[in-house]
Amino acid sequence: MSKVLIIGAGGVGNVVARKCARIPEVFSDIMLASRTLEKCEQIASAVGGDRIKTAQVDADNVPELVNLINKFKPDMVINVALPYQDLTIMDACLETKTHYLDTANYEPRDVAKFEYSWQWAYHDRYKEAGIMAVLGCGFDPGVTGVFTAYGAKHYFDEIHTLDIVDCNAGDHGKAFATNFNPEINIREITQNGRYWENGKWVETKPLEIHKPIAYPQIGERESYLLYHEELESLVKNFPSLKKARFWMTFGDQYLTFLNVLQEVGMTSIKPINFKGVDIVPLEFLKAVLPEPSSLGEGYKGMTSIGCQIKGVKDGKERTYYVWNNCEHAAAYRDVEAQAVSFTTGVPAMIGAMMALTGKWSGNGVFNVEEFDPDPFMEKLPEYGLPWHEQVDEPLPVENNG
Ligand code: NDP
Repeated sequence: MSKVLIIGAGGVGNVVARKCARIPEVFSDIMLASRTLEKCEQIASAVGGDRIKTAQVDADNVPELVNLINKFKPDMVINVALPYQDLTIMDACLETKTHYLDTANYEPRDVAKFEYSWQWAYHDRYKEAGIMAVLGCGFDPGVTGVFTAYGAKHYFDEIHTLDIVDCNAGDHGKAFATNFNPEINIREITQNGRYWENGKWVETKPLEIHKPIAYPQIGERESYLLYHEELESLVKNFPSLKKARFWMTFGDQYLTFLNVLQEVGMTSIKPINFKGVDIVPLEFLKAVLPEPSSLGEGYKGMTSIGCQIKGVKDGKERTYYVWNNCEHAAAYRDVEAQAVSFTTGVPAMIGAMMALTGKWSGNGVFNVEEFDPDPFMEKLPEYGLPWHEQVDEPLPVENNG
């Protein structure tokens, strides 16, 4: 029986709130707070029965957050607002001695830079306060870290290469839209790529390296090497890794639109003066694009995200592939969301469940792969994310050069 405060009533917040609401034996009291109260109220009324309390909060403002936490007294805060709010919410949790969980690492607004240093710096203070922060508990980061830890625990003595493969083979019928917050999504894709090889980072130009990779039940899709934040924690927590890469699929139409938007300066995060007002072009673009939470209805196709691992067991080379496929339409039937919000929100709920039921414990700041993967893996299918595995079969990422 625990109280949770969910911050952020967007695509992912909707999934977390609805899923938590169905599990009163763990989440006995739920509050959903966000910048726009109306969005919280819509979700709460869809759930019905006064199950979810709502509040308006500016999560950039620590005293406001502290006030809200002191009033509601949650055991844990689930942060599914934007990465910009990670540190203010972590500060408020520290001040009120409340556990914390998020799905994306902190980013400063004025530089598109993904690294855990800012959040890892809270470790000693969280430890002293006797509270826990679980970082990056969506799908990627999140389940990909748990998948890696599960593979390493059950199938290998040492893991040597890791390829995280993320495919969205869905069609939302819109000319151009992003599946999670457009601003964060476009910042991620337009920055330089990076992968880990032999103890150092190798940098690439944005989307420079790509090749077709075959995905289960989907087939081959052009996949692009990106830098993704879980690579940083995974190479730290699995120092035997010699190579670690992250691949994501993009359709031609998406890339053509993105290219045009970039060429005309609409993806820039440098403010420009427009009619006497400073505006950030990317923030303006976000305001005119569809919201991720609005894409669910009629979205066809599925996502497939997994980890392809090579290493050794009992002196022999071994391969391991573990993945989940998630249908957009099934996610919509369950919680009126598309699969990208669903595959993020369900793991966030399960991570909170792990912490609140004592399956994951510890004082300090942790990435998900530092905990026991087994109880988390056990819950994934139960809440809508079944997973599959293949041992000692050729890895699709190794085809096509
Ligand atoms: P949305 O844009 O749909 O939702 C974000 C929500 O946060 C909105 O409701 C927004 O309010 C609210 N918000 C923003 N700023 C503030 C603030 N200062 N105070 C209070 N509330 C605020 O994004 P998503 O739901 O798609 O994404 C949520 C998070 O999940 C992001 O951090 C994203 O990076 C992460 N994510 C992680 C993934 C993973 O696999 N690990 C995959 C996908 C997303 P308003 O409605 O007023 O704008």
